[in-house]
Amino acid sequence: MIPPNSHRQFSCDADQSSEGNQRFTAEAMFAATIETSPTAMVMIGADGCIVFVNAESEKLFGYPRSELIGEHIELLVPEKFRSGHPELRSRYFESPAARRMGMGRELFGRCKSGAEVPIEVGLSPVRAGSELFALATIIDITERKKLAETQRKLNEELEERVATRTRELAHANESLRASEERFELAVAGSSDGLWDWDLGSGTVFFAKRFKELLGYSDDEITDDFREFESRLHPEDRDATFAAIRGHLDRREPYDVEYRLKTKRNEYRWFRARGQALWDSAGRPTRMAGSITDIHQQKLASRALEQSNHDLQQFAYSASHDLQTPLRGIANFAQFLEQEYSSKLDETGRDYISRIVAGAKRMQRLINDLLEYSRVESRAAPFVPCDLNEVVDDAILLLNASLEETGAIVTHDVLPVVPGDRAQLSRLFLNLIGNAVKYRGEQPPQVVVSATEVPGGFQLSVRDNGIGISGEHFEQIFEIFRRLHTQQAYPGTGIGLALCKRIVQRHHGSIWVESEVGVGSIFHFTLYGRIAT
Ligand code: ADP
Repeated sequence: MIPPNSHRQFSCDADQSSEGNQRFTAEAMFAATIETSPTAMVMIGADGCIVFVNAESEKLFGYPRSELIGEHIELLVPEKFRSGHPELRSRYFESPAARRMGMGRELFGRCKSGAEVPIEVGLSPVRAGSELFALATIIDITERKKLAETQRKLNEELEERVATRTRELAHANESLRASEERFELAVAGSSDGLWDWDLGSGTVFFAKRFKELLGYSDDEITDDFREFESRLHPEDRDATFAAIRGHLDRREPYDVEYRLKTKRNEYRWFRARGQALWDSAGRPTRMAGSITDIHQQKLASRALEQSNHDLQQFAYSASHDLQTPLRGIANFAQFLEQEYSSKLDETGRDYISRIVAGAKRMQRLINDLLEYSRVESRAAPFVPCDLNEVVDDAILLLNASLEETGAIVTHDVLPVVPGDRAQLSRLFLNLIGNAVKYRGEQPPQVVVSATEVPGGFQLSVRDNGIGISGEHFEQIFEIFRRLHTQQAYPGTGIGLALCKRIVQRHHGSIWVESEVGVGSIFHFTLYGRIAT
């Protein structure tokens, strides 16, 4: 048993040597080192009583060392741990294994104030002669605990966030899968071929149906963009790539027609539509869509285009070539009429006048047909056309017949529209001309009006004429289709067909509303765009 004041043995008293030099004994050096250590140190005897404390211990526990020396170490242990605490001591002294694991025990210390501090205690055996002491190094781990707690909370929060995000992703994945499945179903139903292009890696997933459309089985085509590129018809390459760029860079709709090479080394027409996905930085990451086989449709419309073109060519050359001999017939018939009619009898004169009338009518027909065939071949580029001027010009041209019939033609303030001026003039001339020609009992009253519609304008020409019965609403726009005899109303039956072609060239449509005996309204839309 070490007496309570035995700590003096470990104090840092200087020893005066016989030579008079100031020199520290080993003991004094040990004591000085311990005293100034930044770690609290407490030395305990085999009976558990404190034999020495350093300055840091006084600071940590708030006791002056005089109140600690000789006291049992349990003074520094919170009461609730005391019953268990002897274990530390006995185990330490009794078991070599416990001794080895002396460091790193996390415990609580009890301060003089009663406050508990989390501490870490390390124990080292110190032998002084035959006596065994334990030197406890005590570290205040309040800050470390706080840090660990903060860390734990952060980890928990992070884990929670990861869990939430995982749940969200799983949910998103589920709905994505569901929508993909729905999409695949829809696509399978419509027999389109799906593709899904990863823009980062360049891999393209081609669905089974996509490959089938090209005549391949599922494992025969590699899943990459080069595969698609190598199949694309060289003539469709630029337009297709421009459309892809337009979609990825400017988010323009991706809807193109191109030819792809099939297994039989033939090109087939497809219509491709697609939609990209952009990341939060606005970079496209993925693009997916489908292709539809439009080969037959395309061939049919090309054939139709070709035959329309041929027909137009025929109408043009026939009418053009017929003009000269017809002019001859008309001229000579007129000579006969003027210079020889006195030498002919009544029947002869009648024949000649019929030839003259027939030739004139044929000239009109041929001129109209020529004009009809020129809607496409002599088409001028679209420019802004002030329809107020266009309608005023038509009124001027029709002046004679307007005066003759007492017709009144008025118009609202009309818009300026992109179009082919000559053709728009012809359109109004025909419609206003017909409104006057097919007049009823009253002097003709014609009103031209306009309303704006999405992307263009709707124009209307209303009259108070004889009207048209419902069953003829469609056929009057067909070429050579007339509802009257030449005697009743002269005409070629080309006027409205020409109007329809002009309107179609301006991407619009034309139709009529009418009631017999009341009047007619011809409506048409114009969606022309100025070419850039
Ligand atoms: P055309 O006037 O030379 O016969 P159109 O193609 O201009 O040829 O007209 C076709 C037919 O539509 C006309 O024969 C006429 O019966 C009918 N039609 C055209 N415009 C009117 C109108 N404003 N009122 C009544 N009928 C009309």
